[in-house]
Formats: sequence, structure tokens, C-alpha cells
Amino acid sequence: MWRRVLGCLRTNPVREMSTSQSTFAGKVAIVTASTDGIGLAAAQALGKRGAHVVVSSRKRANVDRAVALLQSQDIGVTGTTCNIGKAEDRERLLQLTLDQCGGVDILVSNAAVNPFFGNTMDSTEEIWDKILSINVKAAFLMTKLVVPHMVKRGGGNIVFVSSIAGYQPIQGLGPYSVSKSALLGLTKVLAPELAPSNIRVNGVAPGVIKTRFSSAIWQNEDSMDEFKKQLSIKRAGETEEIGSVVAFLCSEDASYITGETIVASGGLASRL
Ligand code: NAP
Repeated sequence: MWRRVLGCLRTNPVREMSTSQSTFAGKVAIVTASTDGIGLAAAQALGKRGAHVVVSSRKRANVDRAVALLQSQDIGVTGTTCNIGKAEDRERLLQLTLDQCGGVDILVSNAAVNPFFGNTMDSTEEIWDKILSINVKAAFLMTKLVVPHMVKRGGGNIVFVSSIAGYQPIQGLGPYSVSKSALLGLTKVLAPELAPSNIRVNGVAPGVIKTRFSSAIWQNEDSMDEFKKQLSIKRAGETEEIGSVVAFLCSEDASYITGETIVASGGLASRL
């Protein structure tokens, strides 16, 4: 516990750090669904550049594993369980961040589910409720919780993790693709509303990235061969290649960018 608290309060004299490590010095970043895959890579990318990161997911064992990994990389980290679909969990995640880190500057909204594969016409109300509730509604409600605290800090950054499927629907993943298009819209809607508070709102739309979530695609030679026909860079992406985009969007290097979603898909087509 103390180690985690001290991590939040660490001052890290700037002169002792490289430019990269000092990018987010003194900043606190909440990354949802961050004990594995893209969320974990985003936490690592922000943490390596000096942010204190707050990681979470549903399972305690995963949280403990991610915290240990990040600590071993000398990243300041706080971890807790949080099912992003539950209001009480979202509130607890924020309160823990405020109590232990004193505020929040960055939100990476990364959690998503996909409980359905098939023809969209076969999807049920229950499936639509689940997908929209986690992938879109919870992303907004977490943002709504965090924004007043960013305002108190004089500004902040929000990044929604969308998907290439939000631009070009993936066959069999209709409802999920629609939810990811909705995040492109949410980014556009919130950016002008939050700009006066010095909060930038952007997104990243990954292509096929090697994680458990997408293993059915990249571990299957036939489906990967199919994807490769459309890829300019003929391989699946690595999680670090998304983490670095998230870090860029949250950094001062992106100070004139808001309301945009950066596609990192190895060249998969990205027109709506
Ligand atoms: P992943 O490697 O399978 O990791 C998923 C993470 O989310 C885990 O840490 C998991 O931990 C957590 N999680 C799952 N449900 C949660 C919930 N309800 N509340 C909180 N945490 C939850 O997945 P990923 O591929 O990195 O996906 C992350 C994001 O990237 C998603 O938004 C996905 O749509 C997007 N994306 C992925 C790809 C790809 O190719 N991988 C492409 C485009 C977009 P627990 O099990 O402990 O909860």
C-alpha cells in the first residue's frame, strides 16, 4: 500500500529524467481494463514517460500481476479491481485515484466486450444491451465522473480506444463494430464541449493487434491470410504500437489535436 501511495507522490526531479520520462511527470492516468493487452501497453507507455498509472480490471489476480509487472519496470502504479460496467466500481476507481494520487489528468477508456459473432440479424436485445452498455455507455459515464476532477487540475486528456471495425465493420462483429463507430461519434461530441476546460478528447482505432481478445483472428492462419490481403504492413500489430499512439495523443506533442481518432491498423482501410 505505502509503496503504491509513495509512487503517486513521487516528485521525480525533472533534471534527472530523460525527455521521454519527464513527458508526464506529476500526471496521474487512469487506464480502464488495463491488466492485459492494449490497456496494459497504454499504462506502460504513459508510465515509462513519467505518469503515475492507475490500472484495473475485473479480476484481482490480473490486477496484482499487472501491478507487479509495472513496478518491476519502475513505473509508479496503483491497482484495483473495477468492472467498468458497474457504477459502484467506476466510482470506487475514481475515489481511490483521488485518495491515493490527489487527482487525475488522463483517462484512457479502453474496456470493451464482444459476446457475439454471427449475422447481425441474429443478434438479440440482450447482446445489444451488453455491448452498448460496456463499450459506449460506461466509457461516457467514466468520462463524466473524471472530467470535474480534470477541470480542478486545469485540464486533461481523454482517449477512447475504438477500433478499425468502427470505420470498416468486421464481418460477424456487427454490434461490436457499431459500438466502436459510436466512440468515434462520442469523441467528436465531447471534444468541443470540453475544449474550453482545456481537456482534449481523442481516440485510437487499432487494427488487428496481438492480444487475447483478437486471438481468433491472428492465431488463425486462414483469417490472417485474408486480413493480409488488405494490410499494407503485412503482419498483426503489437500492443506497444497502440500504447505509443495513446501516449502521443496525451502529450504536448498533440497539443493542437482534439476530436480526432488516429487509426493504427497497418494500412487497413479506414473510411466510414
Ligand atoms: P485483452 O488483451 O483481451 O484485454 C482485455 C482487458 O480488459 C483485460 O485486462 C481484462 O481483464 C479487462 N476487462 C474485460 N472486461 C472488463 C470489464 N467489464 N471491466 C474492466 N475490465 C475488463 O483485450 P485488448 O485486445 O487489449 O482490447 C482492449 C481494447 O482494444 C478493447 O476496447 C478492444 O475493443 C480494442 N481493440 C482491440 C483490438 C485487437 O486486435 N486486440 C483491435 C481493435 C480494438 P479482466 O478479465 O481481469 O477483467
